[in-house]
Amino acid sequence: MVDQSETTDLTLFIRTSGEEIAPWNRQRIVDALLREADIDYLLAAEISKDVEKQIVASGIGLLTTSLVRELVNAKLIERGLEKERRLHGRLGFPLYDVRQLILHQNKENANTPHSPEGTNLLFAEGIKKEFSLYDVFSIDIGEAHTAGDLHIHGLGYIDRPYSCCQSLEYLKLFGLKLPHAINSAKPAKHAEVLLAHMVRFSAVLQGHFTGTIGWDALNISFAPYLRGKSDKEIRQFAQMLVYEFSQLSATRGGQALYTDIHLYYDMPQTWADLPAIGPMGKPTGETYRDYTPEAQRFAYAIFEVFKKGDAAGRPFILPRPLLHISEAFFHEPRADELLRHACDVAGAQGNTCFVFDRAAAALATGCFNNVFLPEASARGELAKPWLMRQAAVQSVTLNMPRLGYKAQGDETKLFNDLSELMARAAKAHIQKKDFLEKLLSYAEQGPLAVLAMNADGSPFLRMNRSYYIIGLVGLNELVRIFQGSELHQSQDAMAFGLRVVGFMQKEADHLSEALGVKFVLEQTPAETTAYRFARLDLKHYSPAAGRFVQGDIASGAIYYTNSTHLNVAANIAPLQRVIEEGKFHQFMAGEVITHLQLGDADPGPEALARFVRSVFDRSDNRQMDFTPEFTSCLSCGKTARGLDEKCFYCGSSDVEGIAQLTKYYSKISGWNKGKLAELRNRMINSDF
Ligand SMILES: [Zn+2]
Repeated sequence: MVDQSETTDLTLFIRTSGEEIAPWNRQRIVDALLREADIDYLLAAEISKDVEKQIVASGIGLLTTSLVRELVNAKLIERGLEKERRLHGRLGFPLYDVRQLILHQNKENANTPHSPEGTNLLFAEGIKKEFSLYDVFSIDIGEAHTAGDLHIHGLGYIDRPYSCCQSLEYLKLFGLKLPHAINSAKPAKHAEVLLAHMVRFSAVLQGHFTGTIGWDALNISFAPYLRGKSDKEIRQFAQMLVYEFSQLSATRGGQALYTDIHLYYDMPQTWADLPAIGPMGKPTGETYRDYTPEAQRFAYAIFEVFKKGDAAGRPFILPRPLLHISEAFFHEPRADELLRHACDVAGAQGNTCFVFDRAAAALATGCFNNVFLPEASARGELAKPWLMRQAAVQSVTLNMPRLGYKAQGDETKLFNDLSELMARAAKAHIQKKDFLEKLLSYAEQGPLAVLAMNADGSPFLRMNRSYYIIGLVGLNELVRIFQGSELHQSQDAMAFGLRVVGFMQKEADHLSEALGVKFVLEQTPAETTAYRFARLDLKHYSPAAGRFVQGDIASGAIYYTNSTHLNVAANIAPLQRVIEEGKFHQFMAGEVITHLQLGDADPGPEALARFVRSVFDRSDNRQMDFTPEFTSCLSCGKTARGLDEKCFYCGSSDVEGIAQLTKYYSKISGWNKGKLAELRNRMINSDF
């Protein structure tokens, strides 16, 4: 239907997105409108003529396709064709923003360093973010996110799931065979080769997930490969492992590769009687229980590496070692020594995270949650550890204080609104799920070929076994709005907080049943969200919000208390904080954590080990860490404890602060204002 006769014979040229100069052709507008916006031919022709007239009248010199597109969009709006304009939309950045981003550091996301590859990521992320709000989510969900009722994490990574956890058994058994790769590798014969496979595969997974890549029972999986090695050899191997992962960050524009390694000192029941898989993916003829000594020596050696720090003595930022503590742990020979050792690392360098696997709690092992495990157990998968792989598809965080502003003291309204907001989060999850399933349906020919690869009868990413995270920000502030005191200030406040979270868990269960997917409450790491919600509420819910945001309103350095945490500034004894925060953990099947800030204090391994034992015995807390802070000197290269403006050793002011941002350490120079305000307010614990 090309009607050349009507096309004005312009001596006008247009620069196309394909880096070409083409002669003006009005028909291209018509074609685009027919193809993209589903408009009938006559209307499209009319619009194209209007635009052409406007161009001619303006006497414009150089046309670009993006300018023409905007002119067409303006005509669509004039005719009230909003839906058609959306479909015909264009995603991208203003010139000014591109220049700013290339030239200057972006502080909104502390994870991406300022580098050529880093800015490439920012642009790609920006466009995918727009795309997801336009095309993946419905208008109401996009608005709920933009307005700050809820926050959908990783919008710029819309075409991948959120996080995953698996055991090394998968690589031990199947080797490294990636779709599209020209070369594949057979199951490893030596520990070093297995490590190389693991590093390579971690980097590949990083490119397919937004967040953390977790490895379960790392020291147990490696144990059969370490038989016969001396302590020195095991230490060298542990060093290789930690260095490899700490330096992997170069793979994604310098963005840190969030890796969790789960370590056990006692042999968990789920592993003990399994036939051990050894070199070349073959059973060694022994069970994993027989490799307990190797697994223990390896765990010890890994903590030795963390204790020493990097070449300059600085703490390793990644990977994050998680030590599992169970009743059986304390019955192992020399468990006290290992615990002191892990606490020494925790106090000195801040790396160790303690995970409490209590017998009374629902079946739990490693990084798998109690939504996954009962089903795995029922299907007999616990005996096949390579099948133990679990992913979270997406994470959505709710703005709790805003519910409080809206309810104005009316409890019924609060719980109704909360229920509605959770349903909305669930809807966002389903829309992401549908989008991912479309990508996955292309299987090994599609963009998610790696996640679709099928070595053992099911795809690597098992969508039907995945879960969907619902998090919250500012429970503490919501409680204060309703009760007049913060969580730590009164029993009524605490009881109200527990009631809210208990209600959320029930709602999550109802939604899971109704929609046939698994919704799980989690303490989402929300460094940007806690700041973003506070800023948006201050803008749209003042004056009320002004009374409840934390931080300094005058300078805009504000935040909400993350998740179900107690106020970071509250003066509470450490054990009390662990016990109180732990009360919320029973409602959350996903990740949880209590941080105990150490600042420049180091209470020493004995005190911390006693403390960990008390936490195990006296609380329901499932996960905690101790977090010291550091000042690293760029002049003399030394690292001192605590945050300081000058180097303790040489007095230079060319220093860099290192502290924990959510679960991981990072340089504070990259933090946003809200997080810096929280850092200043953090209560330091020294009395254990
Ligand atoms: Zn110095």
